[in-house]
Amino acid sequence: MAGSGAGVVPVLVLRAGVVFDGEVRRSGADVLVEAGRVVAVEDSAPPPSDAELVDLGAGVTLLPGLVDAHQHLVMNASLDVVDFLEQASDDELAAQGRLAAATALAAGVTTVRDLGDRGYVTLALRDELAADPAAGPRLLVSGPPLTTVGGHCWFLGGEVDGVEQMRASVAERADRGVDVVKVFATGGNLTPGSDPGAAQFAPGELSALVAEVHRHGLPVAVHAHGRDGIAAALSAGADTIEHFSFMTADSVVGDDALVDAVVAAGMRVVLTPGSAPGQSPPLGNIRAQLPLILALQRSLIETGVWVALGSDGGVAPNKPHDVMPYAVAMTTWTGRSPTDALTAATARAGEAVGLGGEVGVLRPGAAADVLAVNGDPTVDVDALVDVVAVYRAGQRVAGAMRRPPAVRPPNLP
Ligand SMILES: [Zn+2]
Repeated sequence: MAGSGAGVVPVLVLRAGVVFDGEVRRSGADVLVEAGRVVAVEDSAPPPSDAELVDLGAGVTLLPGLVDAHQHLVMNASLDVVDFLEQASDDELAAQGRLAAATALAAGVTTVRDLGDRGYVTLALRDELAADPAAGPRLLVSGPPLTTVGGHCWFLGGEVDGVEQMRASVAERADRGVDVVKVFATGGNLTPGSDPGAAQFAPGELSALVAEVHRHGLPVAVHAHGRDGIAAALSAGADTIEHFSFMTADSVVGDDALVDAVVAAGMRVVLTPGSAPGQSPPLGNIRAQLPLILALQRSLIETGVWVALGSDGGVAPNKPHDVMPYAVAMTTWTGRSPTDALTAATARAGEAVGLGGEVGVLRPGAAADVLAVNGDPTVDVDALVDVVAVYRAGQRVAGAMRRPPAVRPPNLP
């Protein structure tokens, strides 16, 4: 019969000793992939005769490609990020973003939500990578974050003053085709003179802004370090609250009642831990505050706050664009189990970026974004930095890369 077999896509069978599907670990399973999607995860069995079997070995674990729910691709992870952003041309920023995307993918990060663009250069990069999945992760992008005049990250070009400007800025982002709108509800550590503990918008203003974004059918990611900004983000109805550090200008002060309200509302929180080995946080007072931030994160576990992970990759040398595995490691230092930390970086992070069931899981129908590592990260998360292979939409896009494990500073709780 003419054309017999045309259009039949052979099945790819990925086999390893362990499969972690984003929530549940099983041993001796195969991941079956067809046309870039997972079609089944099942006990190892002889593959179909037309299938390609890739047996990665009994000592290897397959897990969903990591989902970094909070990154900054156009930042260059240097000590001079602000200078770079003020001086670089759009072409230079795009080149920086392309390099960052490739760096993340090689470490097994197959989805990135970018929350800090300048000049909308990440939108073109998103579309470029969608057409060439081997060159970088799937991107969801916010364009330039909204801030107050002279507020945190004003140099990204998203200052708004008053209701009319807010409306126009949100409409511009929607027209351009962003996936999410990012708003700074507090100051931050990257901007000289900005206080992460202080709220930036009046609560009524933030609520109006969030409502305006929702009117356009888009989600809102609200950056909030300090208590007042977290409270404002909660009452405004943010889709995710980013950082959630409870930082003040020089300390960390929790608020049990506010945390209870966050839980009661089912609010999604994206924590941004993680530091590359041998690097300490240079920005603001984070180095001194880190033990307090991690103690607060430890206290969140028993409250049941819904937590996903991002990395804040790009903002400083300790935050390169492939820092996500170290965010998972740091999360285990706060008392979460390896499995819970992995879920926060896979299934939960996929939900946080609005792609639950599509990314961050190895289940029928999900994208075949797969990270293969030596060892079993559900037992020891350091296995995440011993990469065997990375698949994006069923294509093998990166090979072995071994990095040093995370280093726990002696002053942590
Ligand atoms: Zn950030």
